[in-house]
Amino acid sequence: MSLKYRRVMLKLSGETLMGNQQYGIDPQMLVYYTQQIRGLVDMGVEVAVVIGGGNIFRGLSAAESGVERTQGDYMGMLATVINGMALQSMMETHGVFTRLISAIEMQQIAEPYIRRRAVRHLEKGRVVIFSAGTGNPYFTTDTAAALRANEIKADVLLKGTRVDGIYTADPEKDPTATKYEKLSFKEAMIKGLRILDQAAFALCDDNNLPVIVFDINNPDNLKKIIYGEAVGTLVTN
Ligand code: UDP
Repeated sequence: MSLKYRRVMLKLSGETLMGNQQYGIDPQMLVYYTQQIRGLVDMGVEVAVVIGGGNIFRGLSAAESGVERTQGDYMGMLATVINGMALQSMMETHGVFTRLISAIEMQQIAEPYIRRRAVRHLEKGRVVIFSAGTGNPYFTTDTAAALRANEIKADVLLKGTRVDGIYTADPEKDPTATKYEKLSFKEAMIKGLRILDQAAFALCDDNNLPVIVFDINNPDNLKKIIYGEAVGTLVTN
């Protein structure tokens, strides 16, 4: 079977890393992600990952309780580095070659971001984990994923979530909600559907980068997506 996507950007939220815990990192989730990513590497897919930090720290929530916003955002970015280190470690334990890159320089633990170097790692079959978001406050890791995906010329941005796509309403609250199989960026905007935050959305829309929102907890989904099967919701121009 031929591969529909050869280079992918996988956005994993920090929240899903918690598993059933209230906080932090569930090692079982690390193993699960490792197996999922390994499956793609074994298929010959080049995999870049952007990992969130919401399981540890979010700048905006902290600002509500008095932590200065930008300071909190940098703390959130550091949280993504912790998650990135954990994922890297688990992947290497399972024999997957990885490189951890940080958008904020901390050379003892991660490579600085140099675009051409990151692309070279991908070409050599290494999984590249982008941490520290964009390196700038007031952004999110969705935007980091959209930005890096465009920079490395990924074929698609895969947003792994707890729900299996984009619905007419929140399926966890409204039982009548129905799922969209396909959607254009324009329709999503008109309907006010939140797929990514606005900056990320604009980056994907402006640069024709398709986005697939899918259920990361279904172990068959990623492979199906790579083979071009309809999984989750596909958003294109
Ligand atoms: N963050 C930031 N700039 C970025 C990416 C992230 O300031 O480019 C901060 C922000 O405070 C955010 C936190 O890092 O709340 C964690 O990232 P995010 O909320 O995107 O994680 P996720 O929701 O994916 O777990």
